[in-house]
Amino acid sequence: MVLRKDRPKALVLLSGGLDSLLATKIVMEHGVGVDAVHFVTPFCKYDSKFMDKLSEELGIKIHVIFLGQEFLDILANPRYGYGSQMNPCIDCRILMFKKAKEIAENIGADFLVTGEVLDERPFSQRFRAIQIIEREAGLEGKVLRPLSAKLLPPTEAEKMGWIDREKLFAIRGRRRTPQIELAAKYGIKDYPNPAGGCLLTDPEFARRVKDHLRHERKLTLDDIILLMIGRHFRIDGIKIIVGRNRNENNRLLEIAEKNMMPYLIVCDYMGPVTLIANESKPEVVEKAAAITIRYSDAPKSIPIKVLFKRGEERSEIIAVAMDDDQINIFRI
Ligand code: SF4
Repeated sequence: MVLRKDRPKALVLLSGGLDSLLATKIVMEHGVGVDAVHFVTPFCKYDSKFMDKLSEELGIKIHVIFLGQEFLDILANPRYGYGSQMNPCIDCRILMFKKAKEIAENIGADFLVTGEVLDERPFSQRFRAIQIIEREAGLEGKVLRPLSAKLLPPTEAEKMGWIDREKLFAIRGRRRTPQIELAAKYGIKDYPNPAGGCLLTDPEFARRVKDHLRHERKLTLDDIILLMIGRHFRIDGIKIIVGRNRNENNRLLEIAEKNMMPYLIVCDYMGPVTLIANESKPEVVEKAAAITIRYSDAPKSIPIKVLFKRGEERSEIIAVAMDDDQINIFRI
């Protein structure tokens, strides 16, 4: 149980983008105590230096929370579906709000604050979606959105007089001009792209996730590592990953050796490491070898030797490079 204090306290959901920075500044102006929480998913980069700098500049504590397997389970089966790609934004926000609620209870925060702007994102920031998210997280009336507050019903923080509704805003939609003007007013110059980051909104990456879920029905953190590297193909239901550079090749080799997974390397020429992600069939291995040759320095029109390895097992395959039209049939 947290003892009641004189000064109300807010917990801001801080992505680091401009909108949440503005929301933080606006509530800080009201003299309330402020902490922030920054959520990191397996699909966005966590810039610890930027967050440390922000914490110092704003003079607030930022709690960093990693959403791991719990997030992946939601991604595999979101109750409210996906946005334009494989982004389960409504379910993701519900999870974030639930976690934020727990932190708020622990630190004695009275209300939550977000930088959400009504109708800025078609899927998760419509009024109806905002209502669902609040209700599912058990936070009805407890989330203040300073940038759009005047377009939304008054929250508890306004009703209690902790926050002056008159000093809040009525920003709506995707136009960024009002936020850019506010940024100038608050002297905010350095902020990352607000949507920058979530790989699940990237069409190419989303295709890989969708393909993975269609075949495997679940996702683990190890799966995510593989989804993020290499060129991906599926041959007769079997996933093939071809490294694109030295780093990726080293990574694939490491994963293959560690997990006793089969892989291919072109003999006598520079070329990629090709990981065969599931149990291998000879016809699949042959096609994978032909793809491996295509991305190597070996001549493309003559038979080339390719090494197949799995743990101690070794063998050689002779194949000819696959042409690009055929490769595209297998590309994910
Ligand atoms: S874009 Fe990604 S991180 Fe942001 S709400 Fe949607 S799923 Fe979550």
